[in-house]
Amino acid sequence: SREIRLVRHFTGPVKPDYFELAEVELPEPGAGEVRVRNAFLSVDPYMRGRMIGVKTYVDPFQPGQPMDGGAVGQVVDSKADGFAPGDWVMSMHGWREGYTAPAAGLMKIDASLLPAQAYLGIAGMPGLTAYAGLKRMIGLKEGETLWMSAGAGAVGTAGIQFAKAMGAHVIATAGGPDKTAFCRSIGADAVVDYKAESDLAGALRAAAKPFGGIDAYYENVGGDHLQAALDVIKPFGRIAACGMIARYNDDTPAPGPSNLTQIVAKKLTIRGFIVTDHFDMQGEFIADLSRWIGAGQVRLHDTVYEGIERTPDAFMGLFTGANTGKMLVKL
Ligand code: NDP
Repeated sequence: SREIRLVRHFTGPVKPDYFELAEVELPEPGAGEVRVRNAFLSVDPYMRGRMIGVKTYVDPFQPGQPMDGGAVGQVVDSKADGFAPGDWVMSMHGWREGYTAPAAGLMKIDASLLPAQAYLGIAGMPGLTAYAGLKRMIGLKEGETLWMSAGAGAVGTAGIQFAKAMGAHVIATAGGPDKTAFCRSIGADAVVDYKAESDLAGALRAAAKPFGGIDAYYENVGGDHLQAALDVIKPFGRIAACGMIARYNDDTPAPGPSNLTQIVAKKLTIRGFIVTDHFDMQGEFIADLSRWIGAGQVRLHDTVYEGIERTPDAFMGLFTGANTGKMLVKL
């Protein structure tokens, strides 16, 4: 069974030499253990922080060791009660083709309800992130206008569709004409291609005019996007600070927006959050999601790379915008 290991910790842009493919023999499962063949691996922006070598809200990856991350797969051999060959499970044993591990750390998933890979995307961590950000951090209400940044990505795709299902107007930003067209196709009322705009705030102001301005901003990007948000958001605006991907590959910290006084002048609320603190919303999330999927209001969208050896490419692709919807690796 093959796995991807981190060669060394690093700052700055991600390079292929920081990863190596290794072959290991998987042990037979012991009592309470299962052997699983992974079918889909998740690559996510937060993993970048684990490659730097300092502890943030998750421990760093260890050089010479396989990395971990979300994965879905099927049990092939079991010595654990309640787990039989063929069962689908979700785990954090990603970046590898298979593993032997205690069944207690795995979550069984129902691959007849939704395709198994959906549990890594809209029905999994990125979906719950979008849901918690909109419902709990922003408190999005019907008739309000939301700006969703990185709108064509995993969280963005979920967020646009959820916000529409909640009755809000959505302005989406994404890089390039294909991605903005995609955002429109999943329900965004207005779109802005941030790569084509020299004046992002001006473009957003124009896009938001028919809706009376922007009430809330879903922050996935940071940098010029945050600067534009502080410029255009309405007084008493709410910002869910979910991620700042434009900064993750910086060698040295970049200066912040020059218009932070808008936080005071506009009496803004900015709430940072990490999805792992919001697992208590799982029940209502799945209830809403099932209803929205059933009503045709929400669909799954992903970009799939094939083969374990392409996992580093898929990961690097997050920083160049190679994905539309959730970035996945199929094994
Ligand atoms: P995405 O699927 O959105 O992939 C990343 C996307 O970000 C790319 O496709 C690209 O889209 C965009 N991007 C990359 N670099 C830049 C840049 N320099 N400027 C503008 N856009 C850029 O990833 P996720 O949906 O998984 O994550 C989105 C955000 O949410 C990230 O910031 C992530 O860290 C955060 N997150 C936070 C969580 C939390 O608990 N707080 C949990 C999960 C995610 P484009 O082509 O449009 O530029």
